[in-house]
Amino acid sequence: MDLPMRLRFYLSLFLLTALTMSLTSDVSARQNLDETEQHLASFVDSRVEGAIALLERVVNINSGSMNFDGVRAVGAVFDEELTALGFETRWVDGSAFDRAGHLFATRGNTGPHFLLIGHLDTVFEIDSPFQEFNRESEDRAVGPGVIDMKGGDVVMVEAARALKAAGILDNMTITVALIGDEESSGDPLELGRAALVEAAIEADIVMAFEPGDGNPGTAVLARRGFTGWELHTTGKRAHSSSVFSEQTGYGSIFEAARILTRFQEELVGEELLTFNPGLILGGTSVEFDEENDRGNAFGKTNVVSEKTIVSGDLRTISPEQRKAIKDRMRALIEDNLPGTSAKLTFRDSYPPMGQTIGNEELLAIFNQASMDAGYGSVVAGDPRQAGAADVSFAASHARMALDGLGMTGGGTHTTHEWADLETLPMQTTRAAITMYRIARDWNE
Ligand SMILES: [Zn+2]
Repeated sequence: MDLPMRLRFYLSLFLLTALTMSLTSDVSARQNLDETEQHLASFVDSRVEGAIALLERVVNINSGSMNFDGVRAVGAVFDEELTALGFETRWVDGSAFDRAGHLFATRGNTGPHFLLIGHLDTVFEIDSPFQEFNRESEDRAVGPGVIDMKGGDVVMVEAARALKAAGILDNMTITVALIGDEESSGDPLELGRAALVEAAIEADIVMAFEPGDGNPGTAVLARRGFTGWELHTTGKRAHSSSVFSEQTGYGSIFEAARILTRFQEELVGEELLTFNPGLILGGTSVEFDEENDRGNAFGKTNVVSEKTIVSGDLRTISPEQRKAIKDRMRALIEDNLPGTSAKLTFRDSYPPMGQTIGNEELLAIFNQASMDAGYGSVVAGDPRQAGAADVSFAASHARMALDGLGMTGGGTHTTHEWADLETLPMQTTRAAITMYRIARDWNE
């Protein structure tokens, strides 16, 4: 054979081998499922169009976080579905934190206790131009909240439905938490998440169905928490000609600049840590409107600055890191420039979801379930890609937790949000087999 011919021969041999391998791997993969799991997987496959119809129905109900009636209406659809599967449901009223509230549903009192987390609200309020589900092709649909996260909510319900059809739903306890204000959380946040924390304390395993990083081959093992911080520095008001002198000192703006530089010099490069000053106001007088992230400052170039305010965020991967960094930041504001003082305050918002051994174990079970069902491996996504989410309130209270188990697609929070509809049965089967295997092995 001449060279091009030999190449073509090897190429076709390679393609043939690859084709054969992919066929056999699919078939043999499903052969690794036991009879119950085969039943689960084929039930989910048979339900695809029904599941998509449910998704379409809830996407077509506007449930922007501030459209309380809409959030309740989406809750009512899931209430009906879950009640039909034997769940006891209750609506947690949200008036105490100025939001619609949440739907909680519980079923069973034996075996492992799963807490499944989703949310009913979307970022698309009633005045958004993006209101409708539109199936663009066999495998693709666009719609507000179609993956963030009504798709994930449907995955949960369909997994429970499949477990019931396979006769194994009674072997476990499930609490479903559908939060009504994930995208724009009410205030106080602790009150808005009290029911979720309570449910997590009761649960053994937390599974959350946010869309993750858009890659169906990853799940979210860890999420960074979010803490707000505010730096206030003060100086002595005086004519600028006396700046740096003993009686006047440096002024508040130089002191704020010194501290920010210290933060940057000492803390940049810590693993998975970021912090960002997002706003600075300084001068003779400042007014800071915290609520709306804006303010006014007045100061003349020939007057030493008296007040400076900086507000920023801090994202950390574990409660330990969060505490350590706060301590170091507090230490770095000391040794003030002459004539100045500084004060630093923190406000914790979403806690970090740490990467624990339990979470790694749950990922291993989920990964095995996926491979056995012919859906390939699932690895941990990059925590930097994962924003704060409700799972963070629950994860530390349970033995194991995993997020990013919802449908994937892209364009979340934009008017092009789209879903890969093939990930609906995929994620449902993965979740159902994972739950079945955990329940099967629970007492061993
Ligand atoms: Zn979401």
